[in-house]
Amino acid sequence: MPVIANDDQHDPNKILPIDYDWAREYYESGVANNWVPQEIPMQDDVRQWNGDALTEGERRLVEWNLGFFSTAESLTANNVVLALYEYVTAPECRQYLLRQAYEEAIHTDTFIYCCDSLGFDPEYMYGMYDRIPSISEKDEFVVDLTRAIDRDEFTIETDADLREFLRDLVGFYVIMEGVFFYAGFAMMLGLKRRNKMVGIGQQFEYIMRDESLHVGFGVDLINQIRSENPGVWTEEFGREVTDLVTEAVELERIYAHEACPDDVLGMSGEGFADYVEHVADRRLEQLDLPAQYGTDNPFPWMSEQVDLNKEKNFFETQVTEYRSGGSLDW
Ligand code: FE
Ligand code: MN
Repeated sequence: MPVIANDDQHDPNKILPIDYDWAREYYESGVANNWVPQEIPMQDDVRQWNGDALTEGERRLVEWNLGFFSTAESLTANNVVLALYEYVTAPECRQYLLRQAYEEAIHTDTFIYCCDSLGFDPEYMYGMYDRIPSISEKDEFVVDLTRAIDRDEFTIETDADLREFLRDLVGFYVIMEGVFFYAGFAMMLGLKRRNKMVGIGQQFEYIMRDESLHVGFGVDLINQIRSENPGVWTEEFGREVTDLVTEAVELERIYAHEACPDDVLGMSGEGFADYVEHVADRRLEQLDLPAQYGTDNPFPWMSEQVDLNKEKNFFETQVTEYRSGGSLDW
């Protein structure tokens, strides 16, 4: 009974009774996390950005991350709507995809808000994904993984087709949202801890909370497909996925060093790269693949913030910390 295409078990218009309670729970958790960027004041950020509160290195961190995320959020939204939605037929999964698409619109709006309030030239900020090689290579890497299912005539008939579909899920949920976003999260939250650009930092905290649900949903969807289609996830495919994750870590390492060539507030490009290795190991474990790095988390404060430990608690214990409407306590 696959959750995806060729699925004659699910009428996409008939959501009850629910077959996949986990998908429904992600939807409810997403709704409980509602927020919009305009709730967060930007006056202090504007003052810091236009004054001399920030060093060149700190300004660079802000620019690189606005440059990467401003277009990455739209890429992700387009993948959900234009590539995934057609093939995920279980209605409770589609309900979550619609919720995720809305959250990606909120994230897109966040970067409009940041660009406007800081007075960036839009061509400058939205051109970075073309102009900065370490950003365009990350984007191209995930887009490449999804070329097969983007074709109009793509259908899921065979195990090989299903693996194409899984490549898209790995590319966007595990690599884009689960690895490529995390150096940026650490950079912006690192600045916020030192009272630099706290408005943007808080917006990144909200985005990170949303993204941790997106990653969780994607991983659960992958694992659901695996359990319903036992022949699909071969050892060879597992090795391919591991290689994709380690290639992604290399791209993220280059990005981290380029965004942070010199130490900023005691943080270094190497520290961010280590953090990405730590995150990548957790992602591999979520897919039942062996960890590749064994790198300690160089930023324990990131775990306090939200991320991996809380994600784990969340998925083990079900919604307790996620109840509180728009507010930011986990
Ligand atoms: Fe997003
Ligand atoms: Mn997302």
